[in-house]
Amino acid sequence: MTELTPDEKAELRKAAEAATPGPWRREMIALAPGYMTIGVGTTELPVCIMNGVVESPRGNRDATYVAMASPSTVLALLDENARLEVEVGSLKARVPPEPPTFCMYCRVSPVRWSEGRCLDCGEPSK
Ligand SMILES: [Zn+2]
Repeated sequence: MTELTPDEKAELRKAAEAATPGPWRREMIALAPGYMTIGVGTTELPVCIMNGVVESPRGNRDATYVAMASPSTVLALLDENARLEVEVGSLKARVPPEPPTFCMYCRVSPVRWSEGRCLDCGEPSK
């Protein structure tokens, strides 16, 4: 799966914050055979109308998925993502960098390090 860029996350957040928060639900509506609305639960405010989902189990699953991906759900995921990014940054800052897997002086790989020096040639790991 492709990771969202910061700009894509910002656009997603902006769209979710501007939309009706939900919760959303699937709702049958008599617009025409095969149509289904996905919205906040009133026929006065349909948010999304999908065609052809009623006859198809796959379309029904898609409609359920779209209804579950309400703006409040997307915002909760973005909030969790932002919190986890901060947590990962904090953890990365506390972990010392891994020494290289080979010695750039004697080219031994995998190199054996002791106190930051190659055990074969004694040069520092840089
Ligand atoms: Zn070495």
